[in-house]
Amino acid sequence: MICSSCGSALQAGTSFCANCGTPVAVAPAAPQPPVAPAPLYYGNPTPGYYAPVRTTSGLAIAGLILSLLYFTSLIGAIMGHVALSKINQSRGAIEGRGIAIAAIATGWAFTAINGLFFFFAIIAAVATSSYY
Ligand SMILES: [Zn+2]
Repeated sequence: MICSSCGSALQAGTSFCANCGTPVAVAPAAPQPPVAPAPLYYGNPTPGYYAPVRTTSGLAIAGLILSLLYFTSLIGAIMGHVALSKINQSRGAIEGRGIAIAAIATGWAFTAINGLFFFFAIIAAVATSSYY
């Protein structure tokens, strides 16, 4: 046994520590209250737990949707550019590079097509009005 007060070795059968005089506890130590296990993923997630979770860029998806719409193709293309730069900066944490590129390509293509239609519509309108 070891004295609970000073830590010196006790001789068997003694009731007081020879070093410091502390009465030797005969009764076993009171059971320690069970220590609640530390929650693993509640409240305090360890860094790195969320890091492997890859998220798809919502901006790229929104850009792709907007690029398919008539009046928002240019906005979709710009959102695709922003999403692509954010995906590049995320170093793999954000997925959706293909979606962002598709949004850029579709957005600019539709913008060009819509612009051409708008251009020819103006030419047609001017040409038509010039006849009268
Ligand atoms: Zn002692």
